[in-house]
Amino acid sequence: MSGTLRESEAQPESVRAVSLSPVVRSSCPICGVPLRGRQRACSGKCRAALSRQRRGDDLALVEESLTRALTRVRALRGASKDCA
Ligand SMILES: [Zn+2]
Repeated sequence: MSGTLRESEAQPESVRAVSLSPVVRSSCPICGVPLRGRQRACSGKCRAALSRQRRGDDLALVEESLTRALTRVRALRGASKDCA
């Protein structure tokens, strides 16, 4: 029963922490336009481009590790041609 009380107690604290955080001056990573507040990008268009770019980075990392693994597998296969 005290669990619900604690939950409602913790909520306003986290909200206050967010509103107290200083305004970070940053610019749009896509077009360089200065951002205000907690904006990540100047517009929905740029935000979409940003998320697409991030996904691309993740995919590039996955691709790299997969390529490495593939190279290793191929090297192992070449070492033991009896199995092929
Ligand atoms: Zn932008």
